[in-house]
Parts: sequence; C-alpha cells; structure tokens
Amino acid sequence: MSEKNYVVCAHCGAINNVPMSRLGDNPVCGKCKQPLFSGQPLELNEAGFNRFVAKSDQPLLVDFWAPWCGPCKMMAPVFAQAAAQLEPQFRLIKVNTEQEQNLAGRLRIQSIPTLAIYKNGQEVIRQPGAMGLSDLLNWARQYG
Ligand SMILES: [Zn+2]
Repeated sequence: MSEKNYVVCAHCGAINNVPMSRLGDNPVCGKCKQPLFSGQPLELNEAGFNRFVAKSDQPLLVDFWAPWCGPCKMMAPVFAQAAAQLEPQFRLIKVNTEQEQNLAGRLRIQSIPTLAIYKNGQEVIRQPGAMGLSDLLNWARQYG
C-alpha cells in the first residue's frame, strides 16, 4: 500500500506527496519551500483550478463568486473562517467568475455564490446560495 497523498503547492504549482499522517505538521513545498497550507482560501484562475482538481488528493471546497455580488461579499469572511477550520483536510478555493468567465461557462455556474465540492477530479455536489459557517462546515464534512 502506498501512502500517496498529493498536495498541489499554492505558490509554484509543484505536486508534493504528503502522507496523510503528516498533513497536520505544517508541510512545506519541496520545490519552493513555502507552506503548502496557509489556512486561507486560494484564489485560482482556470489553469490553477484545473490543476488542483486533477492533481489534489484532498477534497476541494470551491466558492464561485463575483465582485459585484452582495451575498458573495457576505460569504467571503465565512469562507475564510471555514478555511482556517477545514484545512489541511480540505483545500478551499475561490474562483472569480467575472474574471474566469470561460471556466464558469464550462462548469455551467448559473448563480453566485455557488459552493461546490470536488474530489478525485470530479464534482461531488454543488449548492447555490450563501451559507452560514456551521452549515458550511457540516455540508463540507458530509460530502468531502
Ligand atoms: Zn511550491
């Protein structure tokens, strides 16, 4: 049995193999030596999103948002708090659908905010609309 657990570096995109048992030890990237987890959501463009979905062994919790969306602004601090609680078991990612229209179109994001969970390269579930912190944590842990 291999203990393969791939973690994509937020800084340089390198793929690191971090055993599950070491995830909580503040692992750093073998290539750029930056921390692999910051306890904060990562803002990704389409290429970054594709890489994380394809290469991460952690479930990804994604917030699709836009700068002009009021409920998204209310969601942002909740999502940031969730990152502090859910990393490193999860990776929390934000996609600005205003900047990444191609990606949002391909994924058929029809309303924002939309929250979605990706695991093993696949979308597991998505939920339109903002959530409070405890609902978001419960939802993520149920599907992640
Ligand atoms: Zn790195």
